Amino acid sequence: MRVINYKRKLIIVGVILSAVLVVIFNIFKEYSDKWEVNRNDKLPIVYSDNYDITLFGMQKLHPFDSEKYSKVANYLIKNVEIEKSRFYAPKKINGSYLLLVHTQEYLDSLKNSRVVAQIAELGLLAIMPNFIIQERLLDSVRYGTGGTVLGAELAMEEGWAINLAGGYHHTKADTSGGFGFYADVPIAVNKLWQNNPKLKVLIIDLDAHQGNGNEAIFKDDPRVFILDMYHEDNYPKDDKVKKYIDFDIPVGFMDTQGYLAIINRDIPKAIEQSQPDLIIYNAGTDIYSRDPLGKMNVSKEGIIKRDEVIFRYAKENNIPILMVLSGGYAFESARIIGESIENILINIVKYEQ
Ligand SMILES: [Zn+2]
Repeated sequence: MRVINYKRKLIIVGVILSAVLVVIFNIFKEYSDKWEVNRNDKLPIVYSDNYDITLFGMQKLHPFDSEKYSKVANYLIKNVEIEKSRFYAPKKINGSYLLLVHTQEYLDSLKNSRVVAQIAELGLLAIMPNFIIQERLLDSVRYGTGGTVLGAELAMEEGWAINLAGGYHHTKADTSGGFGFYADVPIAVNKLWQNNPKLKVLIIDLDAHQGNGNEAIFKDDPRVFILDMYHEDNYPKDDKVKKYIDFDIPVGFMDTQGYLAIINRDIPKAIEQSQPDLIIYNAGTDIYSRDPLGKMNVSKEGIIKRDEVIFRYAKENNIPILMVLSGGYAFESARIIGESIENILINIVKYEQ
């Protein structure tokens, strides 16, 4: 009898042990699958040739480098040897998606060239026929917005994604400013909520400007936690919506060391407090020392380190992350973004050329 009991115990222990091993194996498999990159697969990097803005040269009157997007894509194609076919191409966002966030009145107002001129901060646009503006300017932003929507879906599936545009964080439901036209991140989040209404999102906004559009749209929604670090003397100084920032980090002129110290101190706290199912990272590069609009003093190496740290925290905590480019107005911006994505691919995603 004792021998039979012993055997039975051994079988039970064996079964339990195998079950535990299967569970651990599956957890590990899911975790590693999500961040693995197969050479032959597509990369969750979203890009369209339609991202660039070409307004017969008028775009050059704004400090914004309207060809930043193709320059970043070309950097990755040439320097990291990623074939263009491995990028995901977004669709142009359509009206039903835009209405997830925007009012019909606002969308109609964009048919008035003067309204577009105000938002784009390009006075000359006011006298341009609206159909040209729709085709040459707003269509580009519609592709960029479609890219953020696709990027958010890819991040949920693959663990990470980067849209080589997007981050129009000054756009509200019924107004806009700062060269944004469509609230890409709120639209993408609302789209995800259609299938998963409880999804919790952490927005990490490290652009040098306050992300007042996202703050106004999400308000006190408990599913969205916003960390915003920005120069407090920069546009838009939108005090009315500051109360909607869950983790407010207003700063001044700041060097690389001080900047990275805050990132390392506060990002883990924000993740701990929000326990998100998805991180959306607004990776504005206008914190760069030579940026004409950012008023900050962070080096190229500091920006590359910052982006790496954010991706590392996401990966270590097994939280899907979508990065969008947002602002960055220096001549070197595209190059810095290219090098930073290259660094993420090699050191975090473990991409092998
Ligand atoms: Zn900015």
